[in-house]
Amino acid sequence: MDAVAGRATGGDDDARPTLPDVRPDLVALEGYHSAQVDVDVRLNTNESPLPPPVGWQEALADAVAGIAFNRYPDREATELKRALATSHGVGADEVFCANGSNEVLQCLLLAYGGPGRSVALFEPTYTLHGQIARVTGTAVAAGPRRADFSLDLDAVARVVDGARPVLTFLCSPNNPTGRADTPEEIAAVAALVPGLLVVDEAYGQFAPASALDLRRDDPDTARRVVVVRTFSKTWSMAAARLGYLVADPEVVRACELVALPYHLDTVTQLAGRLALDFADEMNARVALVAEERGRIAAALGELPVETWRSDANFLLFRPTVREAAGVWTDLVSASVLVRDCSRWPGLAGCLRVTVGLPEENDRFLAALTESLR
Ligand code: PMP
Repeated sequence: MDAVAGRATGGDDDARPTLPDVRPDLVALEGYHSAQVDVDVRLNTNESPLPPPVGWQEALADAVAGIAFNRYPDREATELKRALATSHGVGADEVFCANGSNEVLQCLLLAYGGPGRSVALFEPTYTLHGQIARVTGTAVAAGPRRADFSLDLDAVARVVDGARPVLTFLCSPNNPTGRADTPEEIAAVAALVPGLLVVDEAYGQFAPASALDLRRDDPDTARRVVVVRTFSKTWSMAAARLGYLVADPEVVRACELVALPYHLDTVTQLAGRLALDFADEMNARVALVAEERGRIAAALGELPVETWRSDANFLLFRPTVREAAGVWTDLVSASVLVRDCSRWPGLAGCLRVTVGLPEENDRFLAALTESLR
């Protein structure tokens, strides 16, 4: 099988019925995958290094025992939405939940994107924004960030004036650069864009500010700014697949139009709602990660790498004495997995390391020091 073109090919397969071609506009897409290599120290997908609190695991086990599994879940995810709304001081009608924030982004693009429409984004940034846009047949207008990865407001104005995007994406803190856009920069972009401004805050709890505050301060901003968050990182729940957005009720209704019926299962709804009872434990995890982030940043400062300030749970760095691919392989040989970003737009030679437990970070730093010796 030719996996890219989706066609049956070759020898013995020829007698089999021919399958339809995959949509031609999808053939060039490569998908978004991080290597799942069996190593001791996995620092490649920005997960939390710690499991959720034991109290949460026990509360979830109890709650799961009471589920009527023969019944569909609450289609509206009423309790979960209410709890999230309370935690952010917004109305329950301003919250939409889905299976991970990627599905939230997909719902936004299904509702607002499509043929004849475009989105804007500023690279380097999270590649799935462009990827999901293309999958939904939406054109992508990509502008550059500055060399230090900060937003270039002139470039933003140029791109949005030209493309008139229905959605403009920011990722703050930005994956994979780690940099958070300032509230002033986000407000300035919100004033420039013609449609909705989507601020992906997958790493929001690691940063000093949130676009949720901007929404709170001004009704016009609240109407046009959409904030997307996830339980995969801070909340140590990547396995549960839960993300959400906070937006104007009209945007929530648009996402509900395109979400499949009962898309969010009962276990996931319970997992999210119960997690919110453990905010102190989750904040302790964020504090540990922030401390370790500082320690890694200081250690990288002593090595022959270029590195950038991070407001997230990962750091981007560029070895200056060796090729990124060789360093990545050396790290894997030392059973440490990081993300090779060297072929992403604007990131030649760059690797990204997720902050792990102190002993995992020690293993990473020792292996990197050895590779760069
Ligand atoms: N947005 C950003 C910026 C991310 O880095 C990720 C995770 N890689 C996601 C969204 C998706 O996270 P999830 O679907 O697990 O919520």
